[in-house]
Amino acid sequence: MKVTIIGTGYVGLVTGVSLALNNNKVVCIGRQTKKIDEINEGHSPFFEPGLDELLTKAVNNKSLRGSDQLIENVKNSDVVLIAVGTPTVKNKIDLSQIEEVAKEIGKGIKLARKYIVVAVKSTVVPGTTEKIVLPLLEKYSGKKLGKDFGLSMNPEFLREGNAVEDSMDPDRIVIGQADKKSGSHLAKMYGNFTCPILYVPIKTAEMTKYASNALFATLISYSNEIARICETTKDVDVVDVWRGVHLDHRLSPSQSKIVIKNNRVVPGFVSYLFSGCGYGGSCFPKDTKALDAYALELGLEPGIISKVISINRTQPLRVVALVTSGLKKVKGTRIAILGLTFKENTDDMREAPSLPIITELIKQGAHVVCHDPVISVRKSSAVTDLGAILVDSAEEALKGSDAVIVLTGWAEYKKLTPSFFKKHMKNPLLIDGRRIYGKDMLESGIDYRGIGYNKK
Ligand code: NAD
Repeated sequence: MKVTIIGTGYVGLVTGVSLALNNNKVVCIGRQTKKIDEINEGHSPFFEPGLDELLTKAVNNKSLRGSDQLIENVKNSDVVLIAVGTPTVKNKIDLSQIEEVAKEIGKGIKLARKYIVVAVKSTVVPGTTEKIVLPLLEKYSGKKLGKDFGLSMNPEFLREGNAVEDSMDPDRIVIGQADKKSGSHLAKMYGNFTCPILYVPIKTAEMTKYASNALFATLISYSNEIARICETTKDVDVVDVWRGVHLDHRLSPSQSKIVIKNNRVVPGFVSYLFSGCGYGGSCFPKDTKALDAYALELGLEPGIISKVISINRTQPLRVVALVTSGLKKVKGTRIAILGLTFKENTDDMREAPSLPIITELIKQGAHVVCHDPVISVRKSSAVTDLGAILVDSAEEALKGSDAVIVLTGWAEYKKLTPSFFKKHMKNPLLIDGRRIYGKDMLESGIDYRGIGYNKK
């Protein structure tokens, strides 16, 4: 495909080389003649291991060239990638480079005689592509999204220092698509790549990039918070601490414990990267509190662990907020709860998120009826003391209910179908506190809401 990339920095040029060596004709648009000349001579204007060699190859086989003619090249493209900078200015994303190029691309689309997909590769906050880029493209082209041009957000995950390898052999390609036509058109550019391609709404693609970067940033700061506590504690070396932590199979699976799913090794660590109603049980809550208190006693500033505790304290209330968003009022309603223990396959109720949720619903005047596969009516005092009722089956809990909240990922709850909820409930409002249900539930006509997903 004919691809024009605006921006010849780390992302623009490396992506350009990678696409050029994978069956595309690429033009990299820059503003400075000196840089463009360097590119056309096969030299990268910045250092990135392995880039010069591949750039020279792409230039020599005429699959990549540099140019300063933005509009002219956009006009003749199948795909236009935006890879300009998005710096933070005064703690806010500065979109001026994006806005400037969107106007110029619009002028190119105006002159085009064919369908072009514009894809934002730069990292932008959710809403930018549709609310800022799209209106400028439509205004300056005088054309409408759909027939004349398509729109995508296609985040980049390469790492500087490893950018060539990351770009030539990516982990995944995320295509945020305004419509199916945009997504499938853009995917043709990646026809040579074998990694998974995820097609998602544009805002999801924008969010995915931030969630990924923020995760790694959090892990680094978390490691450094642990280092501070070690420094302040006599005779503890953080390197030895991490050695002991890293050997956990959830982080570094040994061959006998490797789980392979869709051709990927899945370390157990990944199971902690799902959103839900919060952690509970006999360890995480007390141990995080104890470590936080210890660090404060050492005279350290409250850090990530303090925030972890506060997020976990308020997370169950997000479930209650989902209930109130779906019911006009909670008072006088019957609410079913499926799953009481802090996680599936245990009967441990200590610090279970179900407890603050039941407490809050009862405070708001709801009649709460619970079921759990291993909490028998005999052992129910933990919930009956709060004023809730415990019954023997999910069916009985659902009977005549105005809402159901699923709080534990027990296998028997995972099997429940939309028709089961519809059959037994007065009003099929389903709050998924663990996100155990798939798209079929979303599309079933049930009023489905869950942690991390609510209706507008
Ligand atoms: P960069 O600063 O190296 O490159 C941006 C380039 O865009 C610059 O060369 C600049 O001159 C050019 N540019 C700006 N306005 C232009 C215009 N009107 N016409 C032509 N060129 C123009 O930035 P980068 O590191 O390549 O990052 C680009 C985007 O990708 C950012 O949003 C960044 O957050 C994101 N990203 C970066 C990395 C990384 O490791 N660097 C990884 C993933 C995503």
